[in-house]
Amino acid sequence: GSGIPQSRIQILPPGEARKIAAGEVIDRPAALVREFIDNAIDAGAAMVELAVEGGGIRRTEVIDDGNGMAREDLELCWHTHATSKIRSVEDLSTSGTLGFRGEALAAAAAVSNLEIVSSQDGREAWRLEVAPGGGTAEVHPARRSRGTTVRSLGLFDALPARKRFLKREGAEANLCRQALIDKALAFPEISFRFVQDGSLKLFLPAAPDRKSRFGDALLGRAESAFLNEISCAGEGFSVTVVVGGPELFRRDRRQQYVIANGRRIQDFSLLQALEYGVQGWFPNGTHPIGAVFVDIDPALADFNIHPAKREVRFRDPGAIHHAVTSTLSNFMHHRGVAQNRESTG
Ligand code: ADP
Ligand code: MG
Repeated sequence: GSGIPQSRIQILPPGEARKIAAGEVIDRPAALVREFIDNAIDAGAAMVELAVEGGGIRRTEVIDDGNGMAREDLELCWHTHATSKIRSVEDLSTSGTLGFRGEALAAAAAVSNLEIVSSQDGREAWRLEVAPGGGTAEVHPARRSRGTTVRSLGLFDALPARKRFLKREGAEANLCRQALIDKALAFPEISFRFVQDGSLKLFLPAAPDRKSRFGDALLGRAESAFLNEISCAGEGFSVTVVVGGPELFRRDRRQQYVIANGRRIQDFSLLQALEYGVQGWFPNGTHPIGAVFVDIDPALADFNIHPAKREVRFRDPGAIHHAVTSTLSNFMHHRGVAQNRESTG
């Protein structure tokens, strides 16, 4: 025929575009866990409870005792780019919050049925129910003590292709538990509870330091006695390393963590720094367990490079790497000298 051929490019309808973007942030129940717990921590919670049913697919719920939301904020919070945490890109360089993109609740609303109950003072409380698919929402009066409950029901019910990529329920539940532990390691002063299909599986009371929290979350009492905690400061950053002594050697590296400004990140180089720092003190072919915590001036790090914030770009990665290896090798050396003195003196 004549005339302009029909173009192959089409702009996706907003509902479809929202679901595709949401899949990048929320790919499985553990992602809901990470985002909801981040929000609870940003709200100043002292207590966080995670309850999952059916591996988190049927229900993922995070309850906190933080500062809650007013009715107006509840009405806005589930919209894309709705955030109370930054006002401009420049704010990223000074922001101390875990959230900043205003997309987690919107993503959760796009891929599940989202409900939130919140109160700022324990007297007035409101319940938000977002319609399936995230198009519209209703707010009604409710009852609740101070804090917020965020509940995602029926994850990916409307996206069967996505749902097929999930593991079996038990494996998804374990990933949820691990996501909670990742946050709990970073915030020892907050108490955490994990409830799976109605039964309490893990309780972490507020801990005095990072070493105690690491032991409570991952080890038994006897093993925890072999944990060490050492810190050092660099320019614009500080590093704390929790490391198990050679008594706790492992054959794999599954209990090694890197946590930067409260987020677990994948940083192979800092895991290597942990290994270098203890080199010579561990049997050949074995690995230390431990966590490297980097607390850095947000101006010296870019957390906005990965959809799930699993990666960070440091302005000076070499300085952090060096701080970890030198602090650790010094510590191991002095520890070795002290032990020799004990055994010979
Ligand atoms: P972000 O955390 O990046 O701001 P979210 O979509 O995760 O984006 O949350 C949107 C907003 O909803 C937050 O900025 C915050 O104001 C509010 N909010 C979410 N969860 C909670 C909570 N548990 N307690 C208080 N406020 C919350
Ligand atoms: Mg958030």
